Amino acid sequence: MSLSEIKTRIAKACADAGRAEGSVTLIAVSKVQPNERVAAVLEQGHRVFGENRVQEAAGKWPDFRKSYDGIELHLIGPLQTNKARQAMELFQVIHSVDRPKVAQTIARLAQEMGHCPDIFLQINTGEEPQKAGVMPAEADAFVAEARALDLPVQGLMCIPPVDEEPSLHFALLAKIAERNGLSGLSMGMSGDFESAIALGATHIRVGSAIFGERAYG
Ligand SMILES: *Cc1c(COP(=O)(O)O)cnc(C)c1O
Repeated sequence: MSLSEIKTRIAKACADAGRAEGSVTLIAVSKVQPNERVAAVLEQGHRVFGENRVQEAAGKWPDFRKSYDGIELHLIGPLQTNKARQAMELFQVIHSVDRPKVAQTIARLAQEMGHCPDIFLQINTGEEPQKAGVMPAEADAFVAEARALDLPVQGLMCIPPVDEEPSLHFALLAKIAERNGLSGLSMGMSGDFESAIALGATHIRVGSAIFGERAYG
């Protein structure tokens, strides 16, 4: 599927939900994709990209930035505290602040560096033991802590369990965000971004539908 087809589907999902088209940011998730495919999407004028590993992003985006202006990078994968500084230098938005220790580290570095990426807090809506993010019951306290640390919290992020209806998780995330006065919702991927938009997503993270299947290994 092409970038323009995805944009058409986003526009339709927005129209169906009675939302303005500009209310959804498309993050093109370029992890593991060959550079030619990424360059092709840059050539079509797209500038907002997502990566899930700091190291991988550091290996390719500085070069792309020499050739293309206005690139905005979003970190969507787990962040280890020892990579936080590098992440804050590279990314404009971090969606995967998933525990107090990471929030505290970012806050301390932000003081030192004098700038901070926009922040989304990751909520483990499916309460999966292997998955990152705070439990829904701890979400309000985590939002309060991040705000007390002066982090620029834009919203919440989730990755629904693979074997469950994603819209239940999108609705839960939207509810937690609303009661905390947060407008940003990072939810929806290639297979479910339309239902995420219907439930209020402001940032959708779409990889394979734009770039094709990822070749791992
Ligand atoms: C890889 C990834 C995506 C994109 O997944 P697709 O199914 O390829 O669209 C979205 N969000 C996160 C957190 C990811 O790691």
